Amino acid sequence: MPKFLCTACGVQYPESAIAPARCAVCDDPRQFVPKAGQGWTTPDKLGVDHFNAFRKVGPDLFAFSTVPRFGIGQRAFLIITSTGNVLWDCVSFLDNATIDIIRLLGGLKAIAISHPHFYSAIATWGQAFDCPVFIHEADKEWVVDPDSCFSFWMGETRDILPGIALHRLGGHFPGSSVLHWIDRQALFPGDTFLVAPDGKHVSFMWSYPNNVPLPAADVERIRSRLGGLEFNSIYSPFWERGEIDQKAKEAVERSILRHLKGPETTV
Ligand SMILES: [Zn+2]
Repeated sequence: MPKFLCTACGVQYPESAIAPARCAVCDDPRQFVPKAGQGWTTPDKLGVDHFNAFRKVGPDLFAFSTVPRFGIGQRAFLIITSTGNVLWDCVSFLDNATIDIIRLLGGLKAIAISHPHFYSAIATWGQAFDCPVFIHEADKEWVVDPDSCFSFWMGETRDILPGIALHRLGGHFPGSSVLHWIDRQALFPGDTFLVAPDGKHVSFMWSYPNNVPLPAADVERIRSRLGGLEFNSIYSPFWERGEIDQKAKEAVERSILRHLKGPETTV
């Protein structure tokens, strides 16, 4: 029996004879069910005409996504370190080419996920690379394809490798987490906050597709947590949003003020 993938959000469901009736992630008000209705595919069908494309986006840092675009079109990051590699966030598609490329780059010590919209096919990935998948305990209810490789972490901070830490900031989801690559002063926020198209700001939304801003109290809390982190760059989970590659902490602070006080007008 195949596992089924939601074609709208890309989240994978357990093996079954027929496709699920609904997608819990798409039914949630942070996401949406497409007007054409819920659609499903399987890993085998996806493999007929999809593949993963890689780009090197920095020293020891690769990003890749599935092409043609599938689900919400996110990219995942492969972080290369001397003590092992980490996959930050994930995609729904995994083929032998992807497995070989990542193994040639040193394999994976851990997979860590920012929030449920990127759960994608994490069970398949964790099994393929025989590594733990770190998920914050607060979002456990959103795990729809449970697996023995999942490691639910609790609290506010978790070191997963030397120099790489997860921080639960909440907001978008209760367990929404960011990855901090301490040596590189790089922050990977998932979409706890998202780089704006101007490349100079970030935005804080409870729902990005439905344009629901994050409450001020959440943004204030995130601000206080970020105060303790040194970062100079931010890598967003979508190619079209890209990076803020310098003075990112200042950009976030500027954006928080804009979120809390409203934009400065020119009139
Ligand atoms: Zn879905």
